[in-house]
Amino acid sequence: MLQRTFSIIKPDAVRNGYTGAILAEIDRAGFRIVAIRKQSISGPQAEGFYHVHKERPFFGDLCVFMSSGPLVLLVLEKDNAIADLRKLMGATNPANAEEGTIRKRFAGSIQENAIHGSDGEDTAAFEIGYWFAAYELI
Ligand code: GDP
Repeated sequence: MLQRTFSIIKPDAVRNGYTGAILAEIDRAGFRIVAIRKQSISGPQAEGFYHVHKERPFFGDLCVFMSSGPLVLLVLEKDNAIADLRKLMGATNPANAEEGTIRKRFAGSIQENAIHGSDGEDTAAFEIGYWFAAYELI
């Protein structure tokens, strides 16, 4: 089933010069880029995006990190996009990520882990709508 998911190339990966390599991996895995935008985000914007994590101990640090520099917002489409992107990303902690995954190759720590991907259909819908207007999703 053709499905859309939301992804972010996080500030660590952009800072380290991995944007092109990560986009190439996404392309090679068969995703269509529906929308793409490089920008910086504010602390409050990060807090709204990650509101489901607001009780977790790392929430503050995570939002500071996500607003620490430019990132790349993406809407991606393919069959089974949500699960397939999660597989391509690898485990949250790059130390536990499988060989060949984006986090294994490009991430440095459990927080600065190179890429975000929606974890379910409801989350994907919220996350796409949080960053992109309908007219941008072509
Ligand atoms: P994901 O779905 O694999 O991105 O992981 P989660 O939804 O559990 O967490 C969201 C993001 O919070 C992760 O991608 C990390 O950037 C960060 N994070 C998760 N767990 C930890 C942790 O234990 N410590 C810190 N500092 N950051 C974390």
